[in-house]
Amino acid sequence: MIFKKKTSHGFTFLVSFIIVALAVMFQAADVHALDINNMYSPLNKKRPFRSKTQYIILHTTEGALEGSLRKVHRFGETHYFVTPSGKVYRIIDRKKIATHAGRSMWKGQTTLDNISIGIEVVGFHDQDITQAQYTALRQLLRQLKKIYRIKDKNILTHSMVAYGRPNIFHPRKHRGRKKCGMFFSHPDVRKRLGLLPGPKRDPDVAAGRLVVADPDLNRFLYKPPKVLAALNGPKDSSVSQSMVIDQGNNAWRIAREKYDAPSTIYTYPNGQKLRGNEIRKWDSIPVGTRVSLAEEDCEQEFEKFLEVGKDGNTVQDLAGNLYADPTTIYFFPDGLIRTGAEMKKSSSLRKLLKNPPKGTRLLVGYIYGGYVQKGRSAIRIAGRKWNYPSTFYRMPDGRILNGDDVEKKSIPSGTLIFIMK
Ligand SMILES: [Zn+2]
Repeated sequence: MIFKKKTSHGFTFLVSFIIVALAVMFQAADVHALDINNMYSPLNKKRPFRSKTQYIILHTTEGALEGSLRKVHRFGETHYFVTPSGKVYRIIDRKKIATHAGRSMWKGQTTLDNISIGIEVVGFHDQDITQAQYTALRQLLRQLKKIYRIKDKNILTHSMVAYGRPNIFHPRKHRGRKKCGMFFSHPDVRKRLGLLPGPKRDPDVAAGRLVVADPDLNRFLYKPPKVLAALNGPKDSSVSQSMVIDQGNNAWRIAREKYDAPSTIYTYPNGQKLRGNEIRKWDSIPVGTRVSLAEEDCEQEFEKFLEVGKDGNTVQDLAGNLYADPTTIYFFPDGLIRTGAEMKKSSSLRKLLKNPPKGTRLLVGYIYGGYVQKGRSAIRIAGRKWNYPSTFYRMPDGRILNGDDVEKKSIPSGTLIFIMK
């Protein structure tokens, strides 16, 4: 009995010692602990929970702190936001969906927002970040990797996963829609972030699902230059240079998918100004034309409705060879809604499919969910995707809302639902 008590005392002492030692260690670590501040987006409450988390995707804001923070906060476009002074803001709860990657694909899986965490770092795709950002990002990544058991090879850049639909410059689905976060793919940068080198090749290009539209970007991502510093000219000159059209720099390379947007302004050498949607001949823009882009570039926009005739786009431009597919849904100006497959089968509608009127809108890659009715709720139809930002509701009054905008209880009978595949 006495012997036993003695052991127990010794044991208690040992345990106390360990606790004190651990406390001292943690305190020491705490000095450099990551300080995350909540700045939740107004959309955070409505965003659904992710069912799995396979990737972390790194972004650069391509703009200054204030404007970038305002934008991602307003649209719920990231989980974390890292400022130049190393401050980290939480914008969307890490368990929920943030709309940060837009049209994206990796290893054949699309819409990576549903399976990834996004981190926005204030900076530019081809510029170094601050020491404070390295420190904060490194710690943030370490935490997230541990929580979700994410391997280093699954920590990617937005430029690696973004892809574009066919357009005038690139007739096939292509990689190169974004240069965002490009810099984070370099082995030296990854090393400073505590990461092993990234993927050696683009799995979707290798499998033929996508083609390379920007060979320079592709080379940087997968065959990086040995010396990183050689790439980084002073920021101002590289930015102004890259916004001017010349032999090696066409409208797509400068503006990417915004090349034909009304908000993209082309100033010709003779002073004439044209908007992207006013230009017809893309191969005859004179060398020396300056391109200016609107600042607000919402990632979600790419997944919204596409319009026939807008920016000179035909159905083929918008849907490619999926124009007669069940997953391409047509919204005609007169209110008729049909899938491409339905129209192909019907002799009376086939003509309409061949030549849809200007103003016809399209959803590509969507499932027609049908009508909400008694006993057939939105959740019954769309499952866990009912409140995804990518799910669309056509209300009986004709308005179109997305999952961010609807409340469970106020979806009336007669509402049509469209769910992204
Ligand atoms: Zn991005």
